[in-house]
Amino acid sequence: MSNAFEDVNQFVRKAGHITDLREDQITLLITPHRELRVESNVRMDDGSIGTFIGYRVQHDNSRGPFKGGLRYHPTVDIDEVRALASLMTWKTALMGIPFGGAKGGITVDPDKLSELELERLTRRFVQGLHELIGDTTDIPAPDVNTNAQVMAWIMDEYGRIHGFHPGVVTGKPVDLFGSVGRAEATGRGVTIAIDEYLKTQNKHIAGSRFVIQGFGNVGSNTARLLSEMGGKIVALGDHTASFHDDAGLDIPSALAWVAKHRVLAGWGAPTITHEELLTRPCEVLIPAALGGVIDGDMAKELSCELVVEGANGPTTPAGDKILGERGIPLIPDIFANAGGVTVSYFEWTQNIQQFAWEEERVRSELERIMRRAFANLMETANKHRLELRTAAFVVAIERVWRASYLRGI
Ligand code: NAD
Repeated sequence: MSNAFEDVNQFVRKAGHITDLREDQITLLITPHRELRVESNVRMDDGSIGTFIGYRVQHDNSRGPFKGGLRYHPTVDIDEVRALASLMTWKTALMGIPFGGAKGGITVDPDKLSELELERLTRRFVQGLHELIGDTTDIPAPDVNTNAQVMAWIMDEYGRIHGFHPGVVTGKPVDLFGSVGRAEATGRGVTIAIDEYLKTQNKHIAGSRFVIQGFGNVGSNTARLLSEMGGKIVALGDHTASFHDDAGLDIPSALAWVAKHRVLAGWGAPTITHEELLTRPCEVLIPAALGGVIDGDMAKELSCELVVEGANGPTTPAGDKILGERGIPLIPDIFANAGGVTVSYFEWTQNIQQFAWEEERVRSELERIMRRAFANLMETANKHRLELRTAAFVVAIERVWRASYLRGI
């Protein structure tokens, strides 16, 4: 049976063989450095005790401190966290930013917790984890169902034990050592990735049709920016409802609805099923929710001209193979959604230097790093005649291997 970590490893092995790495070298690269499982007991509002299991997987730090998000979701397990940690190693390497890869998660449905319960859970998790994180060791950030507020609690709880270290987490509120431009950074990066790719095809965002799955941090910012650039969002959805309009959905209205009601359910546009969403005809399909949604069966049904992975791991190896056979190109997660970790790097830099950047600087540096990474990616794709995912892994693996080799065993 396929699992998320093995899926990522398949992509790594394929690229590893192109770079002529030996099996023992590939094994070194894919094996996580350290894995932590933490029990967090929390006093619930009704007086009962809630027991939650959380994980942190530190995959590789040969190129810099471990770096990666923290996810709160009922399906979180060690296998998924390993997969996501590994993706972070390759993502930071491909972007050329000085971090390694890590990921964390707690198996919990945050919708069932009050704000105070969520805060207590976050603080207990930090108490179980604090010896392994830090601004020079491992730096968490937001992911599914975590946000700037959760990062503020982590910074505060860590600070109670270790003193003032705002760089221990990124994605903090701008009023508490966060960076301007971080909240929208992943979405902005997705649009830069699309722009770069479409340019190679003499196509443009303006006038193209987009379908977006997921309307959280990544999906909503991507939708907003694409529509501001003249793109038409013809379908979008979250876990509560999906909508379509071939003339283009009203994104400011969807954003206003979600700001008030948290989810899309009940918003005015015509609805479709979650399955129909992914198969709507469009130029660009952007999965920006959870992993594994484009499997072998779904890949046969898609009617898009390009897949852009806003989410981490949305395409399984079977799905990837079928897209290749159907000639549908794909911009892989480790490039497409790397705007988030790139601006996290800027936030960390600002924290360490105690110097805040203007938004214009954040945007122009993000553009520079994304466009540089795309150029590296295309150069490798053209040199070895590879599709973009394998090319991205080849660039990343070469960099991580070089750093590991230079450090020595
Ligand atoms: P989020 O919690 O802000 O939003 C998640 C969205 O996905 C919500 O709209 C939710 O309703 C939707 N969703 C969940 N299950 C769904 C389902 N079954 N069908 C349709 N929609 C569903 O999370 P996010 O930060 O936007 O992360 C989304 C994806 O992007 C994840 O894969 C994450 O790892 C990846 N990512 C996030 C960042 C970041 O900076 N936040 C950076 C890189 C990658």
